[in-house]
Amino acid sequence: MTANIATDYEMRETMPTSAHQVQARAQRVVEAAKHLFVAGVMSHGGHANLSARLDANQFLLTTVGAVRELRPDQLATVRLDGKVVDGELAPENAEIVAMHSVIYRTRDDVGGIIHTHSPAATAFALANRPLPCRTEPLLRFGQAEDVPVVAWGPRGSDVSVRGIAEVVGEHPMTAAVLLANHGLLVFGPDPMATAQLVVAIEESAEAEVAAAAIGGAMDFPAGALAAVRESMARLRMNDGRLADNGEAHGEPRAARS
Ligand SMILES: [Zn+2]
Repeated sequence: MTANIATDYEMRETMPTSAHQVQARAQRVVEAAKHLFVAGVMSHGGHANLSARLDANQFLLTTVGAVRELRPDQLATVRLDGKVVDGELAPENAEIVAMHSVIYRTRDDVGGIIHTHSPAATAFALANRPLPCRTEPLLRFGQAEDVPVVAWGPRGSDVSVRGIAEVVGEHPMTAAVLLANHGLLVFGPDPMATAQLVVAIEESAEAEVAAAAIGGAMDFPAGALAAVRESMARLRMNDGRLADNGEAHGEPRAARS
């Protein structure tokens, strides 16, 4: 029998998250949403959904799809098995719970997730073309390999969510995937670091397209990306040791430089 990807989850022992921690995390999500608009990486519709991990079993998720004026009270607490335990999701947001929970379940190091239709990144998603890793900002904000494409499936469907799980499993170091014919899904150590990677991806996608008109973008020198990935893997191992001490899911870590 096939496991149900949305609900087949065993709750872990974890310290309860205090109301103060929830409030602080909600504020970070609001700041991350604001950063996307200030940076000018949002599509005309202003559509996005953002989330932040609270602990090993729960995350905050935006309850609305239009996040231009997002407020802290527009976030629901959702368990990793998909159950909403506090707040109420608009129907279109109930569809995208599994898109977020599958990443938190697969990647212990992830503390924030953002989905957008950022225009230049979405152009790559429409073309079903991975975004090449060829700009310095991608490295700076945690992406040292091409952003892979997840095959299209209806929004939030099992097909789409399984596709995300498969691609993230095949690319354990990627911090983002392109959703074919749809948009972008980015995940980082905390909401603001994730928003910064959305910006880096969007400007890299714009630069790729601009470079195509003057002969095409060039790759980094041979071996350069492998060296960055090695150093990122070492950082992640250090973060893993923090997690063993119970600190990793407390206050989110700062963005890596
Ligand atoms: Zn979308």
